[in-house]
Amino acid sequence: MDSPITREDGGILHPRDLRQSLERDLEQLAIISCHEHHLIPGQGERVTLDYIFENSYVSWCGVEVGSSRKERESFIRQVGTNSYYQWLLAALQRLYGFDEELSADNWEMVSERIAEKHKLPEWYFTVLQKHAGIEKAVLDAYWNPGSDNGHPEFYCPTFRINALVMSHNRQVEDHNGNNAWQLFAPYGMVPSSFAEYLEAVDALLAVKKQEGCVALKCALAYDRSMAFAEAAREDAEAAFGRKDAAPGKVKAFQDYVFHFVAEQAGVLDLPLQCHVGLGKIHGSNPMHLVPLIEKYQSTQFVLFHGGYPWTREIGGLLHNYPNVYADLVWLPLISPTAAVQALHEWIETARTSEKITWGGDCWTPEETYGAVLALRWVAAKVLAEKVQEGYFSRQRALELARQIFCDNARRLYKI
Ligand SMILES: [Zn+2]
Repeated sequence: MDSPITREDGGILHPRDLRQSLERDLEQLAIISCHEHHLIPGQGERVTLDYIFENSYVSWCGVEVGSSRKERESFIRQVGTNSYYQWLLAALQRLYGFDEELSADNWEMVSERIAEKHKLPEWYFTVLQKHAGIEKAVLDAYWNPGSDNGHPEFYCPTFRINALVMSHNRQVEDHNGNNAWQLFAPYGMVPSSFAEYLEAVDALLAVKKQEGCVALKCALAYDRSMAFAEAAREDAEAAFGRKDAAPGKVKAFQDYVFHFVAEQAGVLDLPLQCHVGLGKIHGSNPMHLVPLIEKYQSTQFVLFHGGYPWTREIGGLLHNYPNVYADLVWLPLISPTAAVQALHEWIETARTSEKITWGGDCWTPEETYGAVLALRWVAAKVLAEKVQEGYFSRQRALELARQIFCDNARRLYKI
């Protein structure tokens, strides 16, 4: 059991009280979310409990919600212990005023409350700003790369670069269905050689920065391995525009273009947000990026998701490289236990306190609010333990929280 620590007035503060008082302080902090995929519901689209589950990570559990009482009971029984479900439930309880477990009995009542609230046009941003405390969010609109969802007052876009790397010809799409030529077309760029293609990539990234993108986003871990070799230009060029290119040449094209993008990110001073961990898990270990981190030292590599399950590798990279940032994004939702362990270690290993950021990574405001609850829970636990252990003071802990929740993102993305 933890020993009690002395309060400023000489009294004794129990560890639980310290954690709760920190949690209350964290609730007051403004937040910048460095990564979201928020979908704005269509005109007249009814937002229900089913809609929220379908557009949440709970749907990744692969269990159909169904509409009968029996199906709903079965759904809750199967996914009810998963972390995604727990944090979404916590958010729904707070937002829609119920304390009990979700069940087939209260499903319709909760769903009706959600639908009623969403009839108010302001509810969407009320959840994000007032309840979740989010000031600004970096939006990764992969369905329309670089979009701010028509809300520049709240969203700063990041530009997803997957299609540029994956499309060695006009037919090949990335895992989101994007092709590079589609992205070039609105700007009148029609590259017909590999040299022109690289020029178009270069020009497009510069235009996206001018249009307001604050970062580039690499989600290639859902398309292929994150091991990007040093490819010979002739091999990359050999795949350009060809439907019958050999697999080795296609890989060379992808490797070459990703190196090019990683270098340009530094030239343009746009942080390169990289999904690492999970995804196509055989190739998503963050250590694959080491050669690029070393080669493109002007590029800020923001490694997402704690590289889960390789969170300790992220700690090592934070320690060794000045151009590495660690974004907790999604990690507290995936596993709060892993997030606690990771944050403990990253605080210790990061070269400076400016290297850690956070994002929600969600499609609905409800799940983002759940992600905020998860962040606060993780941060309060870690900071309370660090203060309790005498690692640093309560004041230092709160300064660090302010950096992780907001200040570091503001500086990194110039928001
Ligand atoms: Zn994401």
